[in-house]
Order: sequence, then structure tokens, then C-alpha cells
Amino acid sequence: MTSLLEVRGLRASYGAVQALHGLDFSLDEGGVTTLLGANGAGKTTTLRALCAMIRTSGDILFEGRPIAGRSTEDVVRLGIAHVPQGRGTFARFSVEENLELGATTRRDKNGIRDDMDRMFATFPILEKRRTQQAGTLSGGEQQMLAVARALMLRPRLMLLDEPSFGLAPLVVRELFETLARVNREQKVSMLIVEQNADLALDLADQAYLIETGRIVLSGPSAALRQDEGVRKAYLGY
Ligand code: ATP
Repeated sequence: MTSLLEVRGLRASYGAVQALHGLDFSLDEGGVTTLLGANGAGKTTTLRALCAMIRTSGDILFEGRPIAGRSTEDVVRLGIAHVPQGRGTFARFSVEENLELGATTRRDKNGIRDDMDRMFATFPILEKRRTQQAGTLSGGEQQMLAVARALMLRPRLMLLDEPSFGLAPLVVRELFETLARVNREQKVSMLIVEQNADLALDLADQAYLIETGRIVLSGPSAALRQDEGVRKAYLGY
């Protein structure tokens, strides 16, 4: 597999607090990668750095092209979609309107219509809720909507921050099955940050472990699952 995203020496700070201390990692084209780590390790900051929501130093190459220092809008146009922690749908807008808003960077009206139909086929519950205000959806439905809205950008890469947060186990399972299907069928690569390491390692092919702003372990998910430190600290067995 070729690299879709290559990160070298990525640093980021919040004022005087340095959150990322020079990360090196890469994401495979078509793959799912997970970033594991404890609270405050720098996972959210890494995703925010990749979509230019905070200032960074270091190199970020997307499809071989340097993107560090570009605006968030540019990064989105290039094909990186972010599903932030806490979902971030527009509460007062309907499901349909949220999906339309997801496609605002696109001009191909017919393609947008087709993608909307595809989202309803992928997330049948959203079709049932088509005209309902997003704010009145259940947590699981809102998370589905946030993912579907990001997919309306036709991204090459989707950054997902804690998609399982606050959801019931059955809903989480359905969401993760859908993510696996989207990865397979729509060829969207993913970088996923998850507290639930078990789930994340199941979905992902590759994994990185981040501790206090540094990558301390990397490899195929199956290998990280076997690592004793990972098992004790993140899998609980
Ligand atoms: P969690 O799983 O708890 O969300 P995380 O791995 O995503 O943790 P980050 O949110 O990336 O961690 O935080 C990394 C470090 O940066 C932490 O020390 C945190 O306190 C600090 N930090 C994050 N956001 C800010 C901010 N807006 N201002 C100041 N410091 C911040």
C-alpha cells in the first residue's frame, strides 16, 4: 500500500504548553489507522493539527503534496474531512439540510443528489428522520449524521474523534460496522481516535500509541493487541 498521508516532526502547542513533540507517522491509502492513548496524550490535538485547526510545525504530506500551513478550507477541499468529538451537527437544521451543508464545497448538483441517496442507503435511519431537526435525534443518530455529513464532501480521508463517545454498546457496534463498510465500499481511508481500544483495534489495520505528545509504539493492529503494555493499559486484560 502507498502512503496517503505522511507526517514528519509534527509539533503543536497551546500557548506555553507543548502538546505534540514531533510526531512521525503515516497512513496507508485505503486503510484504517487508529491512534490510541490516555486522556490528554494528544490524540485530539493530532486530528486538529491535520485539518489546520491549530498552528503546527513539521511536515504534513497528503498524496505527496505538502499541506502544512494551508487553511482548513483548503485541506477540506483536498479531501480531508473531520468528524469532531461531540459530533458537531447543526441542531436547528434538518437531517437533509445537514447533509446538504456537508456538500457546500461541491458544485456538482447531480453528484450531490446521488450521494445523498447513497447516504440514506448506508444510514437507513437517517432517511426515516430526513425532515427532523438534527438536535432532536438520539446520540447514535447524531453520530451517524455527523459521519454522513463528512462523507458528503467525498473525502479521501476521514478523521474521526471518539465516534463511540456516549453511545450505547449496540449503537456503537452498528456505527463501527457502518464505518467498516464505508471504508470498504466507498474507499475512504480513516484515522480514528477512540477510548475504546478494543473496538478501534478491531476496525483498524494499523495502530499508533501516543503518550504525552509522542508516538511510543506502532504497527499492525493485531501486533499492538498482543503487546503486554497495551493490553494492561488499554484493553484491561
Ligand atoms: P482526551 O482523550 O482526553 O480527549 P487527547 O489525547 O485527545 O485526550 P488532547 O485533547 O489532544 O488529548 O490534549 C493534549 C494536551 O493539550 C493536554 O495536555 C491538554 O490539556 C492540552 N490541551 C488541549 N486543548 C487545549 C487548549 N485548548 N488549551 C490548552 N491546552 C490544551
